[in-house]
Amino acid sequence: MITKNLQQLRQSIPEEVTLVCVSKFHSEDAILEAYNAGERVFGESKVQELTAKQQNLPDDIQWHFIGHLQTNKVKYLVPFVQLIHGVDSVKLLVEINKQAAKYQRIVDCLLQVHIASEATKFGFSEAELLDFLRSDDWRNLHYVRIRGLMGMATFTDNEVQVGKEFKSLKNLFELIKSEFSGRLQQFDVLSMGMSDDYRLAITEGSNMVRIGSKIFGHRFYP
Ligand SMILES: *Cc1c(COP(=O)(O)O)cnc(C)c1O
Repeated sequence: MITKNLQQLRQSIPEEVTLVCVSKFHSEDAILEAYNAGERVFGESKVQELTAKQQNLPDDIQWHFIGHLQTNKVKYLVPFVQLIHGVDSVKLLVEINKQAAKYQRIVDCLLQVHIASEATKFGFSEAELLDFLRSDDWRNLHYVRIRGLMGMATFTDNEVQVGKEFKSLKNLFELIKSEFSGRLQQFDVLSMGMSDDYRLAITEGSNMVRIGSKIFGHRFYP
């Protein structure tokens, strides 16, 4: 089933868009099936679950952390994580930098922007993010590389609204790219789009989609 789902999904994702297979709450066997179908990029949202899976599964998997990260858990991820999607505060970025320095490893991060209308979703507001970047405070953080932005649209089937939210994130991404070119060396990732809205996200300029249930089926939360 997973292999078949992936075959179908791959046909609707342009080659230049990175697919992150969101395997949270799914078994190692499920991940291996996707791996054997050719997938190498997997996303998890719980630190403990991620570190356990990382130890048991093939070394060439690129693990992305897509959840809400607590500062006290950063140290478990920095030795191996490929990309942290949900950096939603300066404090968290500072902590990632501090832990990564211990491993002499530069960790790629995406800054999460709050684009949804729900109050519950995490992330910087546009204004906060621009203030932070203009402050230049991040320039001393030598062990994090700000690679781009991540956002989650409102949970609604109103496509007009979701499209607008994605468009606003794309515009912010382009603004930052041009204003900070030269200083942000490799600002090239725009992570937006999930199972239900990835087509719309790609239309609006996403180059990284995070897809779980469309590949692995429903998640059963303990
Ligand atoms: C769970 C999750 C996804 C995947 O959601 P699906 O609807 O199953 O595709 C994507 N992004 C984040 C941040 C998630 O937590």
